[in-house]
Amino acid sequence: MSDDVPSFKHITPGGTIGMVGGGQLGRMFAIAAAQLGYRVVVFCNRDDEPAAQVATATVTGQLDDPIAIERFASQCDVITLEFENIPAETMRRCADHAPVHPSQNVLATTQDRFLEKSCFLNAGLPVTPFEKVQDRQSLLQAGERLGFPMVVKTARDGYDGRGQYRINTANHVDEVDWASADDWITEAFVKFDCEVSVIVTTSATGESAAFPVFRNQHRNHILDLTSLPVNIPASIEKQAQEIAIKAASTLGLVGIMCVEFFVRGEDVMINEVAPRPHNSGHVTIEACHTSQFEQHVRAVCGLPLGDPNMKVHAAAMLNILGDLWSYEDGQTPGEPSWEELLDDSRVSLHLYGKAEPKPARKMGHMTIVGDDLEAIERSLRESFERGRNQPALSSG
Ligand code: AMP
Repeated sequence: MSDDVPSFKHITPGGTIGMVGGGQLGRMFAIAAAQLGYRVVVFCNRDDEPAAQVATATVTGQLDDPIAIERFASQCDVITLEFENIPAETMRRCADHAPVHPSQNVLATTQDRFLEKSCFLNAGLPVTPFEKVQDRQSLLQAGERLGFPMVVKTARDGYDGRGQYRINTANHVDEVDWASADDWITEAFVKFDCEVSVIVTTSATGESAAFPVFRNQHRNHILDLTSLPVNIPASIEKQAQEIAIKAASTLGLVGIMCVEFFVRGEDVMINEVAPRPHNSGHVTIEACHTSQFEQHVRAVCGLPLGDPNMKVHAAAMLNILGDLWSYEDGQTPGEPSWEELLDDSRVSLHLYGKAEPKPARKMGHMTIVGDDLEAIERSLRESFERGRNQPALSSG
């Protein structure tokens, strides 16, 4: 499946990297690429998107518009992306002009949960038990094999828990809105001890490297806090890193990929993968010798990979969602108090330049590194809460 290899060429600093997508992942990629002396051309819908604000140049248009694609791709020496649900035809057209990493094959597999899980299962990698379903009847039958509870998911286009139903018993199977999507899978509900992720990069030269394992905590299905080192046995950590590297080579990946796992006892199981930088990897900017974004640049350009290991004892990253732009009541809008939030001088603040804060929208993140993980996590939350503006007390 490794169709990336024949198109290998070194892209040396000074070359132009194309980035499809204009979000925060593309923004932090562009910053890392600029540091290494590359030009980055971003292809996105609007010229005020987070990545467009820091790119060398931007091509705006619909991502499936052949003329816009041509305008973008013809400027690039190599092309990559920051979200995986890009039309296959767009990447095919891009590939007429420059090597594209990850390849169309990797995208086609990882855009579909059923294909992705089947591919890993066939390669002997541990995945959450799953089945394809399409209606009430097939779900009931799957329930007999997998047992309840189950988690029913749309096979395509789901993220941050969207398009998912937890089905506790056979009496709840009618909760799924089958008309809302064409393809579905169901999974056994895993009573995990914790969720972790491993970010792995494979360079166009074939060199692979895995970042340390991160522990992830979610709130309302959205990543809230990432921390490391993880408090799990070293053997499980090693196992997760090895599985992540094998998952990347099974797909034939060139570039970067995040593998999310459930950990239960001594077992790790792949939940899902994303062939792009990942929110949990933001912590690498301050915590590791090489950030995930720099590693992504190196991988697609065929440069030697950097050292992904930790350069500090402990680190944690807290997401800043649009909810911070409202007072404690969660209703009244109010600009966060950045001075208060930054009152702890250890806080590294990253804001993505999004104009409109909305609840659940990822607006930025903050990281603290140090020695004591518990203290770091506490300080992050305290700084965050200080940043929440309080309504002015009415006089009289
Ligand atoms: P996903 O979009 O598949 O990453 O799911 C979002 C979140 O839902 C995961 O991070 C888990 O916290 C939870 N989740 C998803 N699938 C399962 C499962 N099979 N068992 C238990 N929890 C799950």
